[in-house]
Amino acid sequence: MFIKSKILRSVHAFSTREGGVSSLEHTKSLNLAFRRGDSDEVVLKNLEIFAEAVGIPPESIISLPQIHSDIIYKVGRSDAGEGYYKRANIREGDGYITDEKGITLGVKAADCVPILFEAEKGGKVVAVGAVHAGWRGSVAGIAAKCVRMLCEEYGVAPKGIRAVIGPCIHKCCYEVGQDLREAVENRLGGEVADLFVVPSTCVEDKYFCDLVGLNRHLLLDAGIIPENLEIIDLCTCCHPELFFSHRFSKGKRGTMLNVISLGL
Ligand SMILES: [Zn+2]
Repeated sequence: MFIKSKILRSVHAFSTREGGVSSLEHTKSLNLAFRRGDSDEVVLKNLEIFAEAVGIPPESIISLPQIHSDIIYKVGRSDAGEGYYKRANIREGDGYITDEKGITLGVKAADCVPILFEAEKGGKVVAVGAVHAGWRGSVAGIAAKCVRMLCEEYGVAPKGIRAVIGPCIHKCCYEVGQDLREAVENRLGGEVADLFVVPSTCVEDKYFCDLVGLNRHLLLDAGIIPENLEIIDLCTCCHPELFFSHRFSKGKRGTMLNVISLGL
């Protein structure tokens, strides 16, 4: 039902597609997003099943509509439920930080890169964070922005932050076009583009993009130390039986949810 990090000490999980009640072929079975074909009741039932397995109340989760931005909200327990149980007049965005208990940060993905964070000070985890980084968010530097915000808001040092890159599409499967290559060049420079957006050997004007490597680079550049950075080495597109993959399914798919919390 979910995968866990080896380095995070907080309550957290990267969901898989297994263990839910969705019965449609493309959402089977743990679809955790509305408007993918399942009824709202089925999605909320899946959320309850998942939350119970993780050990958090489903009502504690915030997960807003995602817009491939670098918008990160500082949230607290009064924001719990936004996106699942409160759906009218809500915000949009792609990341969260908090130092409060009673709220669980949730980012959705189905090939895009979910990254979970925890920040330690004086031997104690004092804050957590979560971001959704598709290629636009990755290029906009949402991963590094989350590190900066954790440091500024909670007075932690980058070396006190642990970050985990969850299951997402890897370079084996992520063929992209000239537009993405140019976006990386313009924003992050030619050297970074050469490292992480590599020309295809068989198709002209196509590239293979390494979003994991790019986010790893940005996190290390932001001051995270290598032993505090973990990569869950599973490509969503290579494992369609285990994960929802936008690329593998050509867009007809359910959605996973990745969560972290300081607890109740
Ligand atoms: Zn792959």
